[in-house]
Amino acid sequence: MTDPAREHAVVDAVPTDLLIGGRWRPAASGATLAVDDPATGKALVEVADAGPDDGLAALDAAAAAQDGFAAMPPRERGEILRRAYELIMSRVDDLALLMTLEMGKPVAESRAEVSYAAEFFRWFAEEAVRIDGQYGVTPNGAGRMLVMRQPVGVCLLITPWNFPMAMGTRKIGPAVAAGCTMVLKPAQQTPLSMHALAAILAEAGLPDGVLNIVTTSTAGRVMEPLIRDGRARKLSFTGSTEIGKVLLEQASANVLRTSMELGGNAPFLVLADADLDAAVDGAMTAKMRNMGEACTAANRFLVHRSIADAFADRLAERMAALHVGRGTEDGVQVGPLIDAKGREKVAELVDDAVSRGGQARIGGETVDGPGYFYRPTVLADVPVDARLSREEIFGPVAPITVVDDDDQAVAAANDTEFGLVSYVYTENINRALRVVERLEAGMVGLNTGLVSNPAAPFGGIKQSGLGREGGSVGIEEYLETKYVAVGLR
Ligand code: NAP
Repeated sequence: MTDPAREHAVVDAVPTDLLIGGRWRPAASGATLAVDDPATGKALVEVADAGPDDGLAALDAAAAAQDGFAAMPPRERGEILRRAYELIMSRVDDLALLMTLEMGKPVAESRAEVSYAAEFFRWFAEEAVRIDGQYGVTPNGAGRMLVMRQPVGVCLLITPWNFPMAMGTRKIGPAVAAGCTMVLKPAQQTPLSMHALAAILAEAGLPDGVLNIVTTSTAGRVMEPLIRDGRARKLSFTGSTEIGKVLLEQASANVLRTSMELGGNAPFLVLADADLDAAVDGAMTAKMRNMGEACTAANRFLVHRSIADAFADRLAERMAALHVGRGTEDGVQVGPLIDAKGREKVAELVDDAVSRGGQARIGGETVDGPGYFYRPTVLADVPVDARLSREEIFGPVAPITVVDDDDQAVAAANDTEFGLVSYVYTENINRALRVVERLEAGMVGLNTGLVSNPAAPFGGIKQSGLGREGGSVGIEEYLETKYVAVGLR
């Protein structure tokens, strides 16, 4: 268990104001909002609560800094990211504790997220100097073609609470590498990790005005005027499909470039010849990382009839052994859910599945006491018409549906408007590739329960989003292509 004095110290070290033009300052209205610890329901600290004027001031600052930042040599931009990477890694313990306090996940998982977040800075530090162009001869030989890559310009970035730092660095890293300035709005429930990150970037030498942070309890009021203001050129959003659609509509007014990392409903296919031990290990990762509060979380386990009982037994055994508690305590593997609303939704989906014939092998109940805890749950024989087959669960609940062959598994997997990630377990490479090719998903975990990697293109198809973050394509989202037709005399 962490010492309460240390908990206070890491929270007290974080700037609580808005970051505008390189200066931390209170909201123009003087308003603040409370950041709560989901393990206790108590406030950790108050932070400035931006209003529309603060949002516009942040956009002014980003617009004023854009030309100068675009002109900074790529090597220097890369070195800022590299220094920020080193600083994050040198403070991983404090940053992990801070994340656990505001978001709830166990400290070990927060450490993993902080490292994952830092890796985006290391990756894009290396990409900053690899932005290239083209030189070509026109087919008739009479002209020359130059193709150059330039920063998109001022970017609006909106991030969710479930990965409070990594969802930010996955956008900030490529934006800095490409030479774009930013206004970033973190989720009101978890702004502290982003405030700490912004302070680190300033320490690493990021010029004033390049990254502006507007934490607010009124996201729509603050962000809509910025989206509709002609100076912003790009909107990158990670969050629910529902809000993503609203933002796409707003972005259409100025035809903004958009990147949308939206919701998921990941199927986890265990084919008849799967290695059961490996499948259960992968299921634990794909389901329980972040307490199931991940867009990549396995939402539906589609398991071949011949092994469904054995899979359910083993998964139930592993899930039952997990230690639930406050994420700061030693040995805790499952923290609280983010808030009462999140927990209610999980409980409703489980009750619905049970009322339709699903069997709770373990769990299926909330945990008493302060905080928003829900017991790890395994539901067997879940009918396909249960609500949790269609909706993101966002909690520690594993519903298992029996399938009779690969065709049925693939049809059930694709029977959703989402298409972020799918998982497949099989020992047969031919079968694996045939199934993978038919899955409607931007990413597939083949015999692995973890796909996230800064070096890979992360993103979804269908209503799970537009564009990719990370990998060699990640920087493309922040670059425009300019073609110059050269007439030769
Ligand atoms: P959310 O409700 O959509 O919120 C996401 C962000 O949008 C928050 O910062 C939120 O601010 C802000 N927001 C809400 N309404 C807005 C509006 N009208 N205008 C501008 N911004 C607005 O999603 P969430 O519940 O925080 O996050 C969970 C969702 O994110 C899940 O669906 C999950 O699958 C998805 N997700 C996707 C990925 C991916 O890469 N595909 C990664 C992580 C999460 P406030 O919270 O301050 O209101």
